[in-house]
This record gives sequence, structure tokens and C-alpha cells, in this order.
Amino acid sequence: MIIVVIGGGAAGFFAAISAAEQNPQAKVHILEAGNRVLRKVKISGGGRCNLTHHCFDPKVLSTHYPRGERELRGAFHRWQPQDTIEWFEREGVKTKTEPDGRMFPVTDRSQTVIDCLQNRARKLGIEVKLGCRLESIKRVSHDWLLSLSGDQTIIADKICLALGSLKESNILAQLRELGHTIDPLLPSLFAFNLEDHPMKDLSGLSVQMAQVQTLPFGKPQSGPLLITHRGFSGPAILKASAWDAKELAKLNYKFEVAINWITSLSTAALQDMFSKFRTECPTQRVMQNPFAEIPKRLWHRFVSLSQIEEKITWAHLSREKRLNLQKHLTDFRLPVNGKTTNKDEFVTCGGVCLKEVDFRTMESKKQTGLFFAGECLNVDGITGGFNFQAAWTTGRIAGEAMGKSFEKTTSA
Ligand SMILES: Cc1cc2nc3c(=O)[nH]c(=O)nc-3n(C[C@H](O)[C@H](O)[C@H](O)COP(=O)(O)OP(=O)(O)OC[C@H]3O[C@@H](n4cnc5c(N)ncnc54)[C@H](O)[C@@H]3O)c2cc1C
Repeated sequence: MIIVVIGGGAAGFFAAISAAEQNPQAKVHILEAGNRVLRKVKISGGGRCNLTHHCFDPKVLSTHYPRGERELRGAFHRWQPQDTIEWFEREGVKTKTEPDGRMFPVTDRSQTVIDCLQNRARKLGIEVKLGCRLESIKRVSHDWLLSLSGDQTIIADKICLALGSLKESNILAQLRELGHTIDPLLPSLFAFNLEDHPMKDLSGLSVQMAQVQTLPFGKPQSGPLLITHRGFSGPAILKASAWDAKELAKLNYKFEVAINWITSLSTAALQDMFSKFRTECPTQRVMQNPFAEIPKRLWHRFVSLSQIEEKITWAHLSREKRLNLQKHLTDFRLPVNGKTTNKDEFVTCGGVCLKEVDFRTMESKKQTGLFFAGECLNVDGITGGFNFQAAWTTGRIAGEAMGKSFEKTTSA
């Protein structure tokens, strides 16, 4: 009896390992089109692999997924970050948590994760075939006939598609023939390019906590914000790009962004603070940055954009200019024109429609014996280790279910 996992990424490896751990009798294969497995793990997290997030409540965890929140909530009750960490620890990979909740191997090397997965697969007798591309899938009675590159074929009892992004996949038509709907494939986690970039020369500056809102529909998203040569990036922007991925695509990435650079103060508190400056430090120049969270050069830019001259003191700041400054700090609006797919992190929104997959097993509701795991599903998370966690969770559930269903078959 044969289980074949197609795709040698995080989800595919975890599905194959889980199937073999669940059922040591099963012959498990991983077929990988490329000449190396786990390529994205290698480059992930800047080479450190942000493999999961320090969040152990399935309900809270699921809120980090613009697509798949409802389905993953149940799935996380079966396999969540705690399970991931424990599994990797058992296999000798210790993890650590950064202040923002991202979790990495203590070695700070993604190769540690790769070695671990490959060693475990080897120990379990999983056969990994490289340069082996799935070309077509056919149902033959209860089995699956897979045609592979180089005119090879393989017959399997259970198959798991862990193909990653389907954006350039050669088997979209096949999936549709098998009765599956593919939700539109769009980029998520991208930086915003600016129409006119008034801060180009400030590229590299960042604030630790900003609030970003795409207009007119987006919900405010908070986090670090980075000024880049082309526009804005950083977690707050990537979050907004993920949550609004579909709407921004409809607008052809031409929209307005509003930024609040000072989230620690409400607008009213900021007004009070400005009044206090007027009475308590009247001779201090406005140009002198009063906020530790705003880099000096950025503050100077807000002051000059508000048409406030260098020599103006708080006592001499007109109401109009004070309001101007306030607006620049809390509701800074700029036209966005286009996106930059961030080299560091990027996922595809869209994929196999979730209604057609049973998340208790990851089996297709259209075809028995066909399972899905990872990014090929219409599941994607914000940055922070959530995407790999979705790959581990769906891979684990698919693998266990394939192993178990095989047990049922043999005992029947
Ligand atoms: C640069 C970068 C950095 C990232 N960093 C992080 C991070 O730190 N933390 C995080 O959580 N997420 C990160 N992500 C997202 C994360 O990498 C993905 O969510 C994750 O890799 C998805 O795993 P997967 O196994 O579903 O797909 P993949 O890792 O893409 O694996 C799919 C595999 O299937 C193979 N394949 C495709 N079609 C076929 C076929 N027809 N036949 C055979 N094989 C096929 C592909 O070659 C590929 O190896 C990052 C993404 C990128 C691009």
C-alpha cells in the first residue's frame, strides 16, 4: 500500500513524516519537481526560519489568517504551535521566542529545520524523489495513477497534494477536472509603492508601532513600519496587504493609505500634549523632536511638511500649523500606486476552495483518497510564523489521516 505526497516543502514533508509515523507499514514517497527539497524553508525568515508563533490558543491563533480562519480554528485543536515546538524538540531542534512572538530554532539557521525533517524522513524510510514533477492525476478504480515527468508513472492508494502556491501550477486544470474550485490566486504580503514619495530620502527609517489603513475599506493594522526607497513596508504594511489582498487587487493596487505614526496617544491626548508644550516649554523649537518613538529625521520631515519654519517655538506655533502637524502625525495620507513583492516573505492568497476539503482529515470532499496540505489551499497568514504553522498543521492532519485510513483498509 502506497502513500504519495507531491511537493517537498514544509507541508509535504510534514504530511509524509506524519503518515509514516502513523503507519510504519505504509510505503511513503515524496515527489519533488525541483532539484532540492525544502527550498522555502531554507530562505525563510532571512535564513533563520520563523517556524511558528508563540500563540497557543487555537481561537486567537486562527485570527492571524485572512483566509482560512474558520477552518484552521478546528484544525489547531488537533495540531498547534505547542505541538510543533514539542515535535521539533523531540527531534533535537530547540526553539526560542523573540519579543514579538516569532519562534526560531535556537541555532538561528533554517538548515537546522531542514536537517531535522530530512533525517526524520530518512529514518522512517520515506523515499524522496527529486526532479520528479507531477504532470497528471487519474483515478483508476480505487487507486490513483500519477503521471510524472520523464514518462514515469506511479500508482498510489492515497495521495496528498502539497504543491505550495498554485499560481504557476501545471495541474490547475487537473484539479478542476477532479471537481475542485480554485479560488482566485493573488499575491499577499507585499509592500506599498508610492505615487509621489515624499520620504524617499528617509529610506531605512522605521517606527516601532504605527497604524496603517488602506482606504476606503481597510481595517487599521498595527505594527512596525519601514520607509523604503519605493514606499512603505514592514509588518504593519504587510498585514494590511494580507487582509485587503482581494480588494487591493480589484483596485489594481491604486489606492490611498492612511498612517498614524503615534499610536501610543489618542488624537485628544496629542492635542493636550501640544497645549502642554505651549505652556510648559514655550521657548523650545518645534523642530526639536519631543517623541522618542519618532526618529529625528522623520520628525523634521513632518515639521517641514506642515510648513513650520525651523525657528518656530511652541509658543509661536499657529493653530493652523499645529493642526497640520497633528494631521501629519496621526492621519498621514498618500496615494499608493503598485506593490513590491517583498523578497523576505510572500505567500499566495487563493487556492483550493476550503469548502471542498474536510479539515478534520484534509481529505477532498470530492474525491476519496485525495488529500491537501499547505499553501495550495486557500489559506494564508500574516507574517510571524503563521504560514509555516498552517503547513505543519494541515500536513500533520493529512498525514495522520492517510496513515489511519490505510490501517482501516488493511484491517477491513
Ligand atoms: C522568501 C520567503 C520567506 C518566507 N519566510 C517565512 C517564515 O519565516 N515563516 C513563515 O511562516 N512563512 C514564511 N514564508 C511562507 C512559507 O515559506 C510558505 O507558507 C510555506 O513554504 C508553504 O509550504 P508548502 O509546503 O505548502 O509549499 P512550498 O514550500 O512552496 O513547497 C511546495 C513544493 O511543491 C513542489 N511542487 C510544486 N508543483 C509540483 C509538481 N507538479 N510536482 C512535484 N512537485 C511540485 C515545489 O517545487 C515545492 O518544493 C516565506 C515565504 C517566502 C517566499
